[in-house]
Amino acid sequence: MARYSGPACRLCRRELKKLFLKGSRCYTDKCAFERRGYPPGQHGWSRVKVTDYGTHLREKQRVKRTHSLAERQFRRYFQMASRQTGATGENLLVILEIRLDSTIFHLGFARTRAEARQLVMHGHFQVNGRKVDIPSYQVKAQDVIEVREKSRKMGSILDALEMRAQRGLPAWLEQDREKFRGVVKSHPRRDDIHPDVLEQLIVEYYSR
Ligand code: SF4
Repeated sequence: MARYSGPACRLCRRELKKLFLKGSRCYTDKCAFERRGYPPGQHGWSRVKVTDYGTHLREKQRVKRTHSLAERQFRRYFQMASRQTGATGENLLVILEIRLDSTIFHLGFARTRAEARQLVMHGHFQVNGRKVDIPSYQVKAQDVIEVREKSRKMGSILDALEMRAQRGLPAWLEQDREKFRGVVKSHPRRDDIHPDVLEQLIVEYYSR
């Protein structure tokens, strides 16, 4: 199935959870979920049926939509996670978080993951001194990620840095704002990512 291209706020309302897909707007009272925290559509709450399958599906959809991924790609990540040693659910969350676009979002070079993906594809970043324009590129410990010289005056990047300065940086990343540079200190641990996700539900969803 193709990637969803409709209104982002509708996804938060569908998932009954803020997914933070619209940058600074998500932290204001303009947030659609704050105003209308019920499912979209004519029937709203009456569409919500809490079945066992639905619980598993919604948890999977929340994570997939947070990362703006298509089902095929998300499933591929799940398969990759299940081939690794350790807990599959935890592996999956780490794999998603160390995508280059996610890392750039956390470093504060983009306001949302979707924006990070677009900036990467347009060639605004380099990793260890080389241009990388593949959003799914998996970063490694000690990778150095920089905004390319020609892109350092972009308004969206400066805005994103401002936002990140207010919200703080995850423990697994280091940022040098003056040099528009970030370093991956290590891969994130489970405690560093999605504290409210029940990843076991996703594992069970795909194991049905
Ligand atoms: Fe979701 Fe609110 Fe952000 Fe819209 S503004 S994407 S509803 S968190």
